[in-house]
Amino acid sequence: MTKETTLWNRLSAEQDKDAAYRLALGFGCQYLQTLPDRPVFPAAEALAALAAFDEALPERSLPARTVLSQLHELGSPATTAQGGGRYFGFVNGGALPAAMAARLLADFWDQNAALEVMSPIAAKLEAVCEGWLVDLFALPAGSAAGLVSGTSTATLCALLAGRNTLLRRNGWDVNERGIFGAPRLRVVMSDAAHVTVRKALAVIGIGAEQLIIVPADEQGRFDPGQLPALDERTLLILQAGNVNSGAFDPFAPLCEAARSAGAWVHIDGAFGLWARACQSTAHLTAGIEAADSWSVDAHKTLNSLYDCGIMLCRDRGALVSALQASDAYIQFGDGRDGMLYTLEMSRRARSVELWAALKSLGRAGIDELIAQLCQRARQFATELREHNFRILNDVTFNQVLVACESPEQTESALAQIQASGECWCGGSQWQGKPVIRISVCSWATTADDISRSAATFVAARDHARASLA
Ligand SMILES: *Cc1c(COP(=O)(O)O)cnc(C)c1O
Repeated sequence: MTKETTLWNRLSAEQDKDAAYRLALGFGCQYLQTLPDRPVFPAAEALAALAAFDEALPERSLPARTVLSQLHELGSPATTAQGGGRYFGFVNGGALPAAMAARLLADFWDQNAALEVMSPIAAKLEAVCEGWLVDLFALPAGSAAGLVSGTSTATLCALLAGRNTLLRRNGWDVNERGIFGAPRLRVVMSDAAHVTVRKALAVIGIGAEQLIIVPADEQGRFDPGQLPALDERTLLILQAGNVNSGAFDPFAPLCEAARSAGAWVHIDGAFGLWARACQSTAHLTAGIEAADSWSVDAHKTLNSLYDCGIMLCRDRGALVSALQASDAYIQFGDGRDGMLYTLEMSRRARSVELWAALKSLGRAGIDELIAQLCQRARQFATELREHNFRILNDVTFNQVLVACESPEQTESALAQIQASGECWCGGSQWQGKPVIRISVCSWATTADDISRSAATFVAARDHARASLA
């Protein structure tokens, strides 16, 4: 009689032997060891090899190790070396070893962090992280934190809480009456607000006609001189860290004006709120404690892993009331039920690696990490200036905006840099002209990485000069 190989037999044999997990760990460690020498953006051959994934869904089951080997052989070469020292694209942070290791362990646990009863450990760590973050950012005691996928969602949740609170104060309960026919709210923000803010506003039912867009100053900051009269039907949206220049809005006078008018202030601090956790940059965030809500990413400046956004709200009740959900089968606990603070119900336990990131660095390590990112950004700017590049922003945080002699030269040099495999930067527009946009956001970036990348810039610019001559 042949032994029946049911799905259960096959899968439990794989699980018993740990083989697939050890293989994954081996591949992962090998990947990290080779990270410094990998092309920062995948080579053309690696991208072409991705065509192997264009296959029909297999009819029969395959062993985990077969699946994993394909991922390692074809997938690893098609990654961007984001965790290495010379990736400066977007604002993509690196990954702290303790956070990575904790995430691995949490993946073995595979917890659902919706309710305390589903995962006491996830709930405990979420509560602990909330307290630590409120302390680290020196926000009003008792502020609530929700762990979400990123700042996009954090901003969405915070603006929902703000919208519903303003409407309630104006005699309209959204949970009872819905949004249609509600008193009109308006939103004041600068033209430098992040694209995800506009997306969140559209989702919560606020259209272009309700926006008052104020022109930002030459650094991309909200100009207080342009602030319109605010009232108790206004959401004011400010920014800690302009996505191009890294500039911070002047929070103190703006928050002050909003508070006395009864407006709701939200601060998009996706990467910049962390400035508050570092002695040398905390002054950039002076006054933000007077806002009502804040959004920030743990996966950017803190170098925790993707995906971990954090929404913070002064009024816990406002947040919970905006994101309420209950049903007979939902068993709330005495501790923390994470789903009350987010859009989702089922969620992975983000609190585990966030806690590990914060605990492993400690207050001093967080300070050092942020100071180091800023120092490397200034080094990059200095080395490029020495080679006659134009630096277009005040480098107050981790962002550097670079231009060559002409827009064509800037664009051509950027294309060279992106194809070099030596380092990677994105492009953007600044005051209507193309720029190369540098974001220093990994703990792994060394002074040598900066010098090597600056040399890549020089070679790319010289090549662009020659080809455009
Ligand atoms: C990255 C970023 C966002 C969006 O955050 P996600 O985590 O990608 O959703 C919003 N605002 C600013 C300023 C950002 O840098």
